[in-house]
Amino acid sequence: MRSWQELILDREYLDEVQRRDLDQHLPNCNNCRAWAKALGEAEAVVTDQLLAEMDPLAFRAQLLHALARERRQNGWQRCLICWMC
Ligand SMILES: [Zn+2]
Repeated sequence: MRSWQELILDREYLDEVQRRDLDQHLPNCNNCRAWAKALGEAEAVVTDQLLAEMDPLAFRAQLLHALARERRQNGWQRCLICWMC
């Protein structure tokens, strides 16, 4: 089972079942909505600057770590629905 964060990261590449699960989960989960929003904002900021020089996997790994760090600092609550949040 992959975490919701990974599914959100891979949103564009999900199959229909995964996409439907995610669509049903997001409205019920503040953490994952915040994650999706933060991811979108972070991508918008750094994509232009970095994407040309970084390979996509390294870029995503960096983004994940940056967001996880930010999340710890903000003291987000653990997700009640998903086991990885
Ligand atoms: Zn969640």
